[in-house]
Amino acid sequence: MVAARERSTAEGWAGPTARIDLSALSRNLAAVRALARTSRVLAVVKADAYGHGAVRAARALSEADGLAVARVEEALALRRAGVEGAILVLGGFQDPESLDRLARERVDAVVHAPAQVAIVRSRSAGPPVRLWVKVDTGMHRLGFSPSDFPEVWRELAAHPGVAKPLHAMSHFASADEPDGAVTSRQIARFDDALAALGGAPPPASLANSAAVLAAPRAHRDWVRPGLMLYGASPMAAGRARDHGLRPAMTLTAPLVAVKTIERGAPVGYGGTWAAPDTMPLGVAAIGYADGYPRHAPSGTPVLVNARRAALAGRVSMDLVAIDLRGCPDARAGDRVTLWGEGLPVEEIAQAAGTIPYELLARLGPRVERTAG
Ligand SMILES: *Cc1c(COP(=O)(O)O)cnc(C)c1O
Repeated sequence: MVAARERSTAEGWAGPTARIDLSALSRNLAAVRALARTSRVLAVVKADAYGHGAVRAARALSEADGLAVARVEEALALRRAGVEGAILVLGGFQDPESLDRLARERVDAVVHAPAQVAIVRSRSAGPPVRLWVKVDTGMHRLGFSPSDFPEVWRELAAHPGVAKPLHAMSHFASADEPDGAVTSRQIARFDDALAALGGAPPPASLANSAAVLAAPRAHRDWVRPGLMLYGASPMAAGRARDHGLRPAMTLTAPLVAVKTIERGAPVGYGGTWAAPDTMPLGVAAIGYADGYPRHAPSGTPVLVNARRAALAGRVSMDLVAIDLRGCPDARAGDRVTLWGEGLPVEEIAQAAGTIPYELLARLGPRVERTAG
């Protein structure tokens, strides 16, 4: 039933590769600047720069006004790698030692909870800490309620160990939704919270990628784009190219087998897909252990030698099968593109019932990263 033209690759078992286009990162940063001309840009490089490699992304994005990460350890790792310049830890610190480390390394921190204020309060020595106070304007994840915010602000602003100026920030829950009603309410709550402070408004930051694209009134002093820098669209039905963004990551894997299967032959675990015809089938060395989504169904597109082909059967741990009827020239050793140049990661995310963030951030350790 199998094997008419099965061959093995000359190089043996080569695995998946994520090729990172560093020039795409700097061009996408320029696209952010063109959209938010009067704002400074904090480039978000958390989660290993959404799978692109935090240190190399930080260097490629050196024109940004600062970087943002989620956790203290991510900021310290950037400093250890020699990355200078402003860094903001979006999750802030959980203990006095971390706050001290951040202050000594000149890393800014978000303050979003009373326990953090208590840590700042009890700090008596060391360099001043640079803080961004987070208002919960409706996401109900991190941040002070608008009613608690002014008191927290006044205490931190009066503390001698806190650097001036304090920054104010919030985060949007639904900036990717086209109608923008939730975002408008959040902006109004933020503005009310700032107005309650009296005096000149402090430097402020609201906008993630979706708001950079869709909510200019939220740009303020600092925008905080992540996903769009990597060349993917955060909008539910959006595509990066509509915004002039270029994919920074192209994920490929070698075809390790190409064969002819007979009409009716089931393919893969559970035999969920059967050959509609006697036809060529390819097998590529990538699977869910590499971060390719197991929920990508039969029919999910891939590129083989620049032509679209489709997954056939279930994604397994190390392999996927590909319907090669549209690619009669495909040979073992050819590389299959899973997403990236010519095949938007948004399209794969949609097929797999997830979002591009998850696909990029969950690439596995077996995927070789190359950059250029
Ligand atoms: C991750 C994150 C961002 C960046 O979000 P994108 O949608 O990737 O642009 C901005 N702000 C905060 C607080 C974040 O956690």
